[in-house]
Amino acid sequence: MSASPALQYDAIVVGSGPSGATAALLLSRSGWRVAIVEKAAFPRRKVCGEFVSATTWPLLDALGVGDELRGQAGPVVRRVGVFARTSMVTAPMPATGNGVEGGRAVSRESLDAVLLCRAVAAGATLWQPWTVATFESGAGRHACTIEHRERGERIVLEAPVIVAAHGSWDRGPLPTQPLRSAVAASDLLGFKARFQGGTLENDLMALLAFPGGYGGMVNTGAARVSLSCCIRRDHLDAARARHPGRTAGEAVLAHIFEHCDGVRAVLATASGDGQWLGAGPIRPGIHDFGRDGVFAVGNAAAEAHPIVAEGISIAIQSAALLAETLGCFSAAASAPVALAVAHARYQRLWRRNFTPRMRASALYARMFMRPLSTRLAVVSMQVFPSMLRIGAAWSGKSRQLQLHLNAPLGDDA
Ligand SMILES: Cc1cc2nc3c(=O)[nH]c(=O)nc-3n(C[C@H](O)[C@H](O)[C@H](O)COP(=O)(O)OP(=O)(O)OC[C@H]3O[C@@H](n4cnc5c(N)ncnc54)[C@H](O)[C@@H]3O)c2cc1C
Repeated sequence: MSASPALQYDAIVVGSGPSGATAALLLSRSGWRVAIVEKAAFPRRKVCGEFVSATTWPLLDALGVGDELRGQAGPVVRRVGVFARTSMVTAPMPATGNGVEGGRAVSRESLDAVLLCRAVAAGATLWQPWTVATFESGAGRHACTIEHRERGERIVLEAPVIVAAHGSWDRGPLPTQPLRSAVAASDLLGFKARFQGGTLENDLMALLAFPGGYGGMVNTGAARVSLSCCIRRDHLDAARARHPGRTAGEAVLAHIFEHCDGVRAVLATASGDGQWLGAGPIRPGIHDFGRDGVFAVGNAAAEAHPIVAEGISIAIQSAALLAETLGCFSAAASAPVALAVAHARYQRLWRRNFTPRMRASALYARMFMRPLSTRLAVVSMQVFPSMLRIGAAWSGKSRQLQLHLNAPLGDDA
């Protein structure tokens, strides 16, 4: 640790994606002294389809960023579709009952920066670009050594509460961060690119099904189409072997073109807007909610298969759930017993709100990565188009966040 005294806070938020910025904003509004540490300089691009479901826009309004983000977002999405082989099936999005007409895509450069700016305006202290390099716990407090890599500086921050909002891909010192795992053929790698001049209908979000992977397309801000996808490592290797000389992203697009006529049609006149981005492997499933004053939110807690485009919503909603739960306690009353009670409640509310979305995402990923089950699903949707709408509802597209904070603990389950 450095020789200078540690800076004291009520909570340290590690990571400023949508989950971290939301937690920092809401805890600051409740009067907590919050530090938020983000290693990347903003604005930064991110492997993400950028669709934000209708259920999350009221929360963005409550956070005070809804109007600003609407100004930068793509058109309202009212229909969901599946592009597989030669088929293109579409259906209306399920109604949310919250008066919002539909979800919209907004670039991660905008979303993450606008949320973070609001958190700072609410009083959070920002450390960016600083990386949490070491983590120690003892006597009810946690110490994070943060590092400014370019300047070679190190500072220690201390707090009884850590909000682990570091996502699910970066290795690091927190107990909630992933360990290195062996490379496997079944690893799912994420890719994303944006295009100008595509012809995707304005109100449509399309799910793309192709062997060994799945993806999505939607109109995002500034008249661009975003295409994001996940592909198994073995299918990526095979695509690269079939398309030598192309980058990994270009080989993935060629693979999608071979198996999805709808994508080829939409991008026939389009040109790329920036480089392909790649990341992963993704880690779908429930990971870790943390313990002893460490609370995981967003992808750090759990990662839904991106096929349902619910990760940003779960990130923002889980952070709101945690902030509401912690808000029942004053910042000063963060004794271990109070934190253990908060932990139990947060986990129960999390499972009640998000487990159905996690299950639906796993089911759809399995179904749409295999040609035979994709064909069966598409034929069924052609006969019964309402199946697509019901499927979107199961994936969380119409489900409002349930807080129930005042219920006794035993009633949360
Ligand atoms: C291909 C693909 C497409 C997707 N499409 C969609 C979609 O259309 N809609 C949707 O809702 N979701 C989508 N998602 C999921 C979505 O991107 C994630 O669920 C979301 O980004 C999670 O937000 P988060 O705040 O939990 O984490 P992140 O957004 O990953 O943010 C974590 C932050 O923590 C920082 N960090 C990490 N370690 C440290 C450290 N040690 N010190 C300081 N900072 C640190 C990182 O720099 C990062 O900024 C997609 C995902 C993929 C892979």
